[in-house]
Amino acid sequence: MALIVHKYGGTSMGSTDRIKNVARRVAKWHDAGHQIVVVPSAMSGETNRLIALAREVQNPPDPRELDMIASTGEQVSVGLLSMALQSIGKSAVSYAGWQVAIKTDSAFTKARIQSIDDEKVKRDLDAGKIVIITGFQGVDENDNISTLGRGGSDTSAVAIAAALKAAECLIYTDVDGVYTTDPRVVSEARRLKAITFEEMLELASLGSKVLQTRSVEFAGNYRVPTRVLSSLTDPLMDLDTEANSGTLISFEEDTHMEQAVISGIAFNRDEAKITVLGVPDRPGVAYHILGPVAEANIEVDMIIQNQSVDGKTDFTFTVSRNDYQKAVDVLNGQKAEIGYSTLVGDAKVSKISVVGVGMRSHVGVASQMFRTLSEENINIMMISTSEIKISVLIDEKYMELAVRALHKVFELEKE
Ligand code: ADP
Ligand code: ASP
Ligand code: MG
Repeated sequence: MALIVHKYGGTSMGSTDRIKNVARRVAKWHDAGHQIVVVPSAMSGETNRLIALAREVQNPPDPRELDMIASTGEQVSVGLLSMALQSIGKSAVSYAGWQVAIKTDSAFTKARIQSIDDEKVKRDLDAGKIVIITGFQGVDENDNISTLGRGGSDTSAVAIAAALKAAECLIYTDVDGVYTTDPRVVSEARRLKAITFEEMLELASLGSKVLQTRSVEFAGNYRVPTRVLSSLTDPLMDLDTEANSGTLISFEEDTHMEQAVISGIAFNRDEAKITVLGVPDRPGVAYHILGPVAEANIEVDMIIQNQSVDGKTDFTFTVSRNDYQKAVDVLNGQKAEIGYSTLVGDAKVSKISVVGVGMRSHVGVASQMFRTLSEENINIMMISTSEIKISVLIDEKYMELAVRALHKVFELEKE
């Protein structure tokens, strides 16, 4: 008997029929003698609908009120799932984040979990109940409801698993595991039986939306055994088969021994690039440009400063596309202070990254990547590398072509 956390995403909770299936699956695990905590997302499309509704009334929306609204989708889900379980004879109870309580900071729309009180949940589990807790939301120290950023139910689930010292966190979703790249873009993508925590962290932070980045950080920091698997199989399938299906996030690098140098390709369509031309090249250039951008709470990703000519230099950096206009406005306001000549930008760029721990011991990955893109006539605008990844920025219209070509050249479809 073990304590196990199940997380179900939006598609998995997408209709009352699907919710009834989730209930059957959860009941099967409970019948096998396990203690089960379930963390569902809102029904698919619901969070988008709620955010659009808010924007119809106020744009940009007040972040505190937006969280008040956006968090309600999950509250509907937990209530429905609890009812579905009760209808098949199970004892179940649902809680919103504040009732547990899941305490967060006050960074509305992207709050971070600070602590989770396990008392109430443990008491219910010991009384034989299935406990269902809202994903995506928490409460700050002033009792304001907060949300954890899009895709945040993954993080709720892994954090709850860590707090309860669960034996495993099972992330049920609409694909049957983590693939070499998004299977909706490359049909040859192959499911990985295991992936190292480090690689999963890179893939997630570089744009693979299958897991929210922070959930992988929690899994790593608290060593929570985490598995990604399908919610769309027969809910009554053999439990042991199900328990070993999908993709395990592994903490052992040697499970990787025979794997390829590259494990996966991530991409991010939501990038934008800004170039500041003709900046006087003197100490403090980067600070004068990026300081005001950071003060406006805009995260900067890739950065290039060119060789200076006649005492002037050009400075290029990328931000999330949502922040593009705000960053341009900030820099327009700082033109005199920075002393640049022109600002140019491009909000139609994408970032593609190849990821693999095997890169540490293999040279030539970068040159193979650049050759492949050159053969496809795709221009590279920026490059950044770390020990286990190489990222390039390209025109968004070549994104899918580039991912397919790289998937092929690194033979990711082959086991
Ligand atoms: P959920 O609603 O269950 O949280 P998400 O839509 O957030 O589901 O995440 C699952 C989706 O992630 C898949 O449908 C798939 O399109 C996408 N995805 C992106 N990269 C990958 C990858 N490397 N492996 C698997 N799925 C991926
Ligand atoms: N419902 C939230 C969202 O759509 C959280 C999640 O699905 O994980 O972002
Ligand atoms: Mg998700």
